[in-house]
Amino acid sequence: MPEISRRAQSLGTENAFVVLAEVNALAREGRDIVSFCIGQPDFPAPGNVQEAAIRAIREGKHGYTASAGIDPLREAAAKYLSALRGGLAIRPEDVVVGAGAKPFIAYAILSTTDHGAGDEVIYPNPGFPIYESQIAACGAKPVPLNLREERDFAFDPEDLDKALNAKTRLLILNYPHNPTGGLLSRKDLEAIAALLRKYPQAWVYADEIYSRLCYAGEFFSIAQLPGMAERTIICDGASKTWAMTGWRIGFAASAKLAPAFTRWITNTDSCASQISQWAALEAVTGPQDSVERMRQSFLERRDLIVRLLNEVPGVSCRVPGGAFYAWPNVTEACRRIGARDSEELRKRLLHEAGVAVLADIHFGARVPGEGQHLRFSYAASNQAIEQGVARMADFIRKNTKKAA
Ligand code: PMP
Repeated sequence: MPEISRRAQSLGTENAFVVLAEVNALAREGRDIVSFCIGQPDFPAPGNVQEAAIRAIREGKHGYTASAGIDPLREAAAKYLSALRGGLAIRPEDVVVGAGAKPFIAYAILSTTDHGAGDEVIYPNPGFPIYESQIAACGAKPVPLNLREERDFAFDPEDLDKALNAKTRLLILNYPHNPTGGLLSRKDLEAIAALLRKYPQAWVYADEIYSRLCYAGEFFSIAQLPGMAERTIICDGASKTWAMTGWRIGFAASAKLAPAFTRWITNTDSCASQISQWAALEAVTGPQDSVERMRQSFLERRDLIVRLLNEVPGVSCRVPGGAFYAWPNVTEACRRIGARDSEELRKRLLHEAGVAVLADIHFGARVPGEGQHLRFSYAASNQAIEQGVARMADFIRKNTKKAA
């Protein structure tokens, strides 16, 4: 029997999808589960966007497009990305449209590192699991950069200083951050940029997919700092901002790497769906009131879930500055119910309390000294948030008594 390659065997996954399958299986058995697993807005794509897609189909705009995307979308995305980043100079030819933001993670690693050459990629831990998985699969060395609860889940620039060296080819930044909801302050970004000056060979991948879900003021990209634009790959997209996850549209901007990204797309997807591209053009250029409404709704739900989680015995939750994730510390809750770790707590919450969440280990190796965490995606109704967190509180109370 022929073998599967070591590369394919080593590939990691996104556990949100694995847990979601588990939740769906339980739901099919008739179990009542409140789910906080999946990282997507719980809104439909805006009506004008839906209409634009239907129009594209009716007008026969559904064949292949250029691999970099249709010109009007590249132009509109360049303007959009620039406007949101203090008027940064971004030309249409610097922008490549992909089938979601996710593929650009691999394209960026593949375009900045060589397989087996000892090239290093630094990435946030905990972090979006695809970073570590793709770094390893592409044959580069993953170098985790640990996030610190006491810094509201920013990393310490001193830790970055220790991680950087002559082999560093790429630094992945993600803020607002999945899974913690954390941000990087202007001060930290300036410290990061100052450190990078010593390593001119290192690129930055700025995963800014949650840029419109920033609650602490205006979004600020590291690319806006002096000397950073030419070495930063900005990645954003339609998935989170216009509730278009399944439409698969992302944009990456980099003057130097755009031709390489385009060629990767020719070698993989050929192009993003043309129908979705016309819809994304409407999303970017049409009325933006739904974006603001969704942001406001997430902000209210953030405040609700953080307040409720902080009332759960043994749980403490920092206020996340962006995205739609809460990352409560559950170290004490685990101790009270006699759970070995957050993963055991997660499983018991799912099977005994009917609450589905993800555990910290689904986002990388647990950071020593930082305790146990769970991830709640609060893209759920107020009622689901109230009911789910109440179930968790009851579960911990009930089981604390038993253990005592
Ligand atoms: N980066 C991060 C940090 C994400 O959380 C996600 C989606 N969960 C993506 C990229 C992928 O976005 P898309 O659906 O546009 O591929």
